[in-house]
Amino acid sequence: MTKFPPVFKGDYAIIHGGDYNPEQWLKEKDTIWKRDMELAKGASINSLSVGIFSWALIEREEGVFDFSWLDETMDMLAENDIKAILATPSGARPPWLAEKYPEVLRVDNNRQKMLYAGRHNHCLSSPVYREKVRIINTKLAERYKNHPALAMWHVSNEYGGECHCEICQKRFREWLRERYLTIDKLNDAWWGAFWSHVYTSFEQISSPTTPSWLGENEQHGLKLAWRRFVSDQHCNFVDNEIAPLRAITPDIPVTINMMDLFPTINYFEMAKRLDRASWDNYPQWTGSEADYSVALRPAFNHELQRSLKDGKPFLMMESSPSVVNWQSSNSLREPGTVMLQGLQAVAFGSDSVQYFQFRKGRGGCEKFHGAIVGHEGSENTRVYKEVAETGRALQKLSEVAGTGIKADTALLFDWENNWALSDAKFGKQDKRYEETVMRSYEALKRLGVQVDIVDETKSLDKYKVVIGDMAYMLRGDYAARVKRFVENGGTYIGTYVTGYVNDEDLCFLGGFPGPLSEMFGIWAEEIDILPQGAECFIDYHGKDYKTLDWCEVIHAKGADVIGKYADASTRFYRDTPALTMNRYGEGTAYYIAARMPVEFLIDFYRDALVIAGVETEDMPEGVMRSVRSNGENEYLFLMNFYPKDSEIELHGDYTDLLTGKHEAGKTTLKSRQAMCLKKN
Ligand SMILES: [Zn+2]
Repeated sequence: MTKFPPVFKGDYAIIHGGDYNPEQWLKEKDTIWKRDMELAKGASINSLSVGIFSWALIEREEGVFDFSWLDETMDMLAENDIKAILATPSGARPPWLAEKYPEVLRVDNNRQKMLYAGRHNHCLSSPVYREKVRIINTKLAERYKNHPALAMWHVSNEYGGECHCEICQKRFREWLRERYLTIDKLNDAWWGAFWSHVYTSFEQISSPTTPSWLGENEQHGLKLAWRRFVSDQHCNFVDNEIAPLRAITPDIPVTINMMDLFPTINYFEMAKRLDRASWDNYPQWTGSEADYSVALRPAFNHELQRSLKDGKPFLMMESSPSVVNWQSSNSLREPGTVMLQGLQAVAFGSDSVQYFQFRKGRGGCEKFHGAIVGHEGSENTRVYKEVAETGRALQKLSEVAGTGIKADTALLFDWENNWALSDAKFGKQDKRYEETVMRSYEALKRLGVQVDIVDETKSLDKYKVVIGDMAYMLRGDYAARVKRFVENGGTYIGTYVTGYVNDEDLCFLGGFPGPLSEMFGIWAEEIDILPQGAECFIDYHGKDYKTLDWCEVIHAKGADVIGKYADASTRFYRDTPALTMNRYGEGTAYYIAARMPVEFLIDFYRDALVIAGVETEDMPEGVMRSVRSNGENEYLFLMNFYPKDSEIELHGDYTDLLTGKHEAGKTTLKSRQAMCLKKN
């Protein structure tokens, strides 16, 4: 593994900073701005993100641009040796733009036109909005292309949502025409004879509605097409935003701050437009042992962000150094959480620790959201001190910047599969796809395994093991590539509800798991969602593991049965196959027929991984590990999310980069401590 280039040209350092809004303090700039720079330096901040939501202050009237405050800001950052991540302002528009061009306002899925309000409510198709964005992005790029502070572009902010206006309907129909070519092909793909939905013209089609009684909400082909269109519209909007930046500043990297597993945009597609992935991380820490479970979600997302760009270090663009004002409870973080949260990001491949926000605004709905600098305005707060301490720690980890993560195991999370599954009706139950993938992820973390996250389009060639939970939709050439992967010696672990539908959400004929039946050596005949009071168990190596709610009834068609529904099961299919293994070519395909708890997954994955030649190491409770490397040096990160100390055995000789101490054998991780150990 080689070292990746630094995020900022020529600068191997971990980025430490956050969102900064000096435009909110124009009247106090002589005092506040000056103080901000002192406080930023005191916290070892080397980068600030500016210009997010600043459109109204740059273009107060149509076509009249005033960059004076931004010029001053950029100069001030350069003078203080702080890099600017400069945003394009499209995430929120000025009132005049909505007043003069009402077409830029979104129409909701209930077909109601939005008023000028909030942020993120622009129509993604509006030619006027796209043009205005292009103009202001061009002006920004022209103005700052040679500015010494400019280090990166932050395109818009947290894209999301959808618009159902007439322009969007028209674009949707164009998109459909491009995909299906003829209306007959669309009818075939959407199974149009069902409920008399045979269209004779593309003009008869409009987007799904909420509430469902208002319009179309049951035609799965239409719903899937709409979701794909909305995601594509975002990507297409991003292309429009980025074009002037690429043309004028080809050497300045571009990123977009994404949000967890945000449902309306396929991030694997969006990331193709970017130089670096980045995301906004807001875990709801509790201060209790539950924090290990809380930490799994950001860990997964960090690994996803890294995987989106095939291993390149990403940025944690936002995180709260203190409270978050929009979560169900606004709890304070226990001392040490800022450092732990930051080092967790770095451990899983981030080259940055950034916060929302640098200084709290006096007004608006985020005035009580956590910030590095509060309304009191000094360095004397607990939060500021913790951020400053984190900044000093990150300086000691500079050599980690640019290193990657070697993973032999991949875990599948596919946006389009999630869309199709969420529509699929197996009764009213939530299919719990995310939760299920996350359970596999937890098992892998508890086994200390390095993991990449892939979707159905990513290459599987470099992995030894691929785990595909609930791969309901096998799209594109995924099934063919999975078969080739196993034929060539790979290990694939699939589960119930794999291979039910194709790209268009049409069921495979001839038995599930469709095109993967031969590889798994099974036929999945029926799926049982357990009624209340029913219990099923899988007997694996003489131990009964209780299943969760979904159990598939399967037949071995060549596969070895390595686990059956145990005698204690209350359902009629007791004593039938529940866990199978099939040799296929040079490799092995396992099939788990029921949704299983993490305790089973840990035991089963451990066996399957070891057989496949992947190292595992059972982690102490509450502890996660991750190894970054560049082929030359290796950095072991250990993180303890429990509010009590934990002991861990080290295999090798290390230097703790934060303390300089030598570490070998048994070491103690204090409550909420993260370590970065360099292998000697
Ligand atoms: Zn629209």
